[in-house]
Amino acid sequence: MCGIIGIFNHPEASNLAYLGLYAMQHRGQESAGIIATDGKQFTSHKGMGLVADVFPEETIAKLRGTRAIGHVRYSTTGSSSLENAQPFMINYSLGTLAIAHNGNLVNAEETKKELVYRGSIFQSSMDSEVIMHLVACSREPKLIGRLADALKQVKGAFSIVFMNENELIAARDPQAIRPLVLGKLKDTWIVASESCAFDLLEAEYVREIAPGEILTISERGIKSYFPFPAAKPTHCVFEYIYFARPDSVVFGETVYDVRVRLGRQLAREHPVDADMVIPIPDSGTPAALGYAKETGIPFDLGLIRNHYVGRTFIEPRSSIRHFGVKIKLNAIRSILKDKRVIVVDDSIVRGTTSRKIIKMIRAAGAREVHVRISSPPTDYPCYYGIDTPTRKELIASSHTVEDIRRYITADSLGYISIAGLKQVVNCRECFCDACFSGRYPISFPGLEQPAQPSLF
Ligand code: AMP
Repeated sequence: MCGIIGIFNHPEASNLAYLGLYAMQHRGQESAGIIATDGKQFTSHKGMGLVADVFPEETIAKLRGTRAIGHVRYSTTGSSSLENAQPFMINYSLGTLAIAHNGNLVNAEETKKELVYRGSIFQSSMDSEVIMHLVACSREPKLIGRLADALKQVKGAFSIVFMNENELIAARDPQAIRPLVLGKLKDTWIVASESCAFDLLEAEYVREIAPGEILTISERGIKSYFPFPAAKPTHCVFEYIYFARPDSVVFGETVYDVRVRLGRQLAREHPVDADMVIPIPDSGTPAALGYAKETGIPFDLGLIRNHYVGRTFIEPRSSIRHFGVKIKLNAIRSILKDKRVIVVDDSIVRGTTSRKIIKMIRAAGAREVHVRISSPPTDYPCYYGIDTPTRKELIASSHTVEDIRRYITADSLGYISIAGLKQVVNCRECFCDACFSGRYPISFPGLEQPAQPSLF
């Protein structure tokens, strides 16, 4: 769970990178960083926290040059600390190279062990540093050969922007698990995790970086390389369900449209008589709209979100019940009182949030609470870059839907089926559904059965 951006050929490259990161803040809130270059000097600034806090105006002014790459981080592997903040930069035999990486490598630990055995010294616990060591150690004469060489040795999800003295380089794993898109603003090329960054910069969406593509951008133009054996794409379907911004075009489709269709499909699979459909904001909103459109049951907002909740807040000593959820959401009594309510959310992970929210809705006077979830039960952890708890902590891994209904105290509970999900997403593409099916498309140490294609 990270967001990346690369800017090539703009007098205010670092400012554009900053704005792009701002648009992609939802992809990571732990740390933010930008490295800029004029082709000779590289300047870097990284910090813990949100983009707006890490980059005061005077800091951006110091990041000079017409090229920049940036990163927002939500740690999945590696601890949350400044040394693990990206972008990350090395000096090696061919000069300087900076990287911003989204995705998890599943063989990073074993590759790192080998590298350390051969004498590499690591500065961080990020798996992205493994890629940089592989590039530095490669015997290929040119950078493109070294990148291909390094990336062939890693397994897992990578959407990456690299930057050296002359080029901006985008790379995406052959299964294209995480998104990565190419945009253009007059003579400026932009690479970003999500197209919502282009909208803010008034850049046009050009295309996705293709599965297995390494794209070099230099003053001579753009050039594509496909060094990896072709593989069937397995895009992360959870980007559609929860992670990406609804206004982004991801894997060729606007996320909002997919979420509304998920809500419609959910309604077809789990209809129920009720007075209103309400979302758990913001993640459940488009699916709730879809559910309401499909059934004709009125859509309403029974829960209001406080958008200014920071990462930490001071809890009162004398316990206020459900404090954690209350600080983020509040129920509107006049809307919910005596009503039969359908509550739509995108997923249930541990079940603790849903349980608290349902209690809140009941306390506001709702007569019935029917929960509808626009994803199948989250049964397995993700190893490719979504932050999920261990399998034991996932409520669906050890409980039936009826158990979960009882735990969250709903009158009824319905999840969309895997078949329904498959029908909704663009079926020309292929998706990874391992978090629902346990069919992991890329093998890794400790995986009980061999890698399997997804059900898509
Ligand atoms: P839980 O209380 O653990 O069941 O959390 C469920 C809520 O977490 C839902 O409202 C989801 O929108 C949200 N959610 C799902 N996946 C993630 C994730 N990887 N990181 C943060 N929040 C998530």
